[in-house]
Amino acid sequence: MGRYAETHRRSIEHREEFWRERAALIHWQEPFRQVLDYSKPPFAKWFVGGKTNICHNAIDRHLRTRGDQAALNFISTETGQHATYTYKDLYAEVNRFAAILQAQGVGRGDRVLIYMPMIAEAVFAMLACLRIGAIHSVVFGGFAAASLATRIDDAAPKVMVTADAGMRAGKAVPYKHLVDEAVRLAKNPPARVIIVNRGIDPDMPRTAGRDLDYAALCKEHANALVPCVWLESSEPSYILYTSGTTGKPKGVQRDTGGYAVALAYSMQSIFCVEPGETFFCTSDIGWVVGHSYIVYAPLLNGSTTIMYEGLPIRPDPGIWWKIVADHRVKTMFSSPTAIRVLKKQDTAYMRAHDTSSLQRLFLAGEPLDEPTARWVTDALGGTSIIDNYWQTETGWPILSAQPGIEDTPRKFGSPSFPVTGYDVALLHEATGAAVGVGEKGVLTIVPPLPPGCMTTVWGDDARFVSTYFNTFPDKLVYSTFDWATRDADGYYFVLGRTDDVINVAGHRLGTREIEEAVQAHAGIAEVAVVGVNDALKGQVPLAFAVAKDPARTATPELRAVLEKEVMAAVDKELGAIGRPARVHFVTVLPKTRSGKLLRRSIQALAEGRDPGDLTTIEDPAALEQILSALGVKA
Ligand code: AMP
Repeated sequence: MGRYAETHRRSIEHREEFWRERAALIHWQEPFRQVLDYSKPPFAKWFVGGKTNICHNAIDRHLRTRGDQAALNFISTETGQHATYTYKDLYAEVNRFAAILQAQGVGRGDRVLIYMPMIAEAVFAMLACLRIGAIHSVVFGGFAAASLATRIDDAAPKVMVTADAGMRAGKAVPYKHLVDEAVRLAKNPPARVIIVNRGIDPDMPRTAGRDLDYAALCKEHANALVPCVWLESSEPSYILYTSGTTGKPKGVQRDTGGYAVALAYSMQSIFCVEPGETFFCTSDIGWVVGHSYIVYAPLLNGSTTIMYEGLPIRPDPGIWWKIVADHRVKTMFSSPTAIRVLKKQDTAYMRAHDTSSLQRLFLAGEPLDEPTARWVTDALGGTSIIDNYWQTETGWPILSAQPGIEDTPRKFGSPSFPVTGYDVALLHEATGAAVGVGEKGVLTIVPPLPPGCMTTVWGDDARFVSTYFNTFPDKLVYSTFDWATRDADGYYFVLGRTDDVINVAGHRLGTREIEEAVQAHAGIAEVAVVGVNDALKGQVPLAFAVAKDPARTATPELRAVLEKEVMAAVDKELGAIGRPARVHFVTVLPKTRSGKLLRRSIQALAEGRDPGDLTTIEDPAALEQILSALGVKA
């Protein structure tokens, strides 16, 4: 048996022993009594009774050995700012931010909502929360006010942290305006909003008594030192919202000790980065990849992390490779969509920079298609390209090559094997039996979920169980809601979602969520949203809508007007990220006789495939309408 297979086997068969050893990767203020408490399946508690703090492990612990080493390099090609924060600098910044939060009454268990562009202060805020035992909820800056308001109501934060604006492609993107709107919409708004004023938006509104200026607060708390609050291992570190099949996003709740151990371990087993080496993750702090691999894992590991505000093609398509060369980046983490964007550019931009330091490029978030994988493998020469598969829920990879354990050969189109700690099973959709080699099954994880994975849905234990553990009536397994196959060599191939979730440029969106945003337009009676293949973004949403007043869709010109209005409604409700690529108008949607939307059939037609079994359809004319809306002859 190879080293990988042996390690993986041990992590499942001798689970507690395995993780007890890994737990030594972090500092425990008080040792744990029990490695795993699985007395209430499927709820798993890791390192029970142990007391620790993620901020201590990410900063304080390194001060003595690497205080003067760069911890965080902030680079913005939007504003031209560059800043390097050593571990000592980061310690000072985070202590100050922690004092600011405490002065606003934030303490252990309180929530802080962070809605920030990619600036260093966002990292200070996240770490400051964990330092004092507060729970952060970072919301991606691309979400609109209504989406932000839903998350405010669910998390009920005491304080929000934002900035006047971000910048994208040289244009200011207002944040504070949007926060004001969200706070107005929220039923339970926070008492205070802390604003990092970057001087980008001169029209930034301010509400006296509620809004506080970060720079002024920094002066007040200039040299503050705030001790870490030691948390029991399963106390929450953060909440991160993610989309599912319902319109209401779920707050993925993460623990403290398990998450820290899993991330620290992943830096050795998967990412192969040593303390002192540089890691560059191109994600955004609003996504799980940004949480785990811009902020926490590199710092827990004593490495240097890079935070980049800007596009991969500005000022020119060589910018990422310039960052790699300038900072001698050893490991990079990005997404297939980003690589497809770069693939369209002249490779001379990449070749202009010395990327010899770059040993591995990890790609995740969506399927990595073979042409893209081949292109980037050739373009980067000696760098290994590693596809890895995971979810917001798991916090770290489920499937990946683990070169820190064994350098197994990779196959294009496959994220290789189950990561150590994950007991993965491919189950037949109807019977729940394990499928054979090459057969398609639902990708599941046999619980207990390993350390680092979500522990529950924020405020809703029942939803955690009913959403994730209810796919098979007589089997308690966690469903990823992805289809996959496994070949004779044990390599997994992920085939796409089993549910109505779509993946746009590596970001998960619920079709239901987009449908609700479309229906925010008063002129729309009904809508079906499906994800269709897209050469650049993997998938894009397409909407098929029924207008309340047929006169509004009588001519192509009128339809174009309504389509624009609907897109604007989605931008406003959900954010441009959910905007359908097209809104087509029909007078009836394909449904079953019991009224269920036939999204799969619509999707198949939109992708030029066979729509499948249609015996249950209520009105066959509905499909013809879809085809003619798409400009296809029935
Ligand atoms: P998110 O929670 O937003 O990161 O989305 C997770 C989903 O993205 C998964 O359930 C998959 O559908 C998809 N996904 C993530 N990584 C990969 C990958 N390497 N290959 C194929 N699909 C992926």
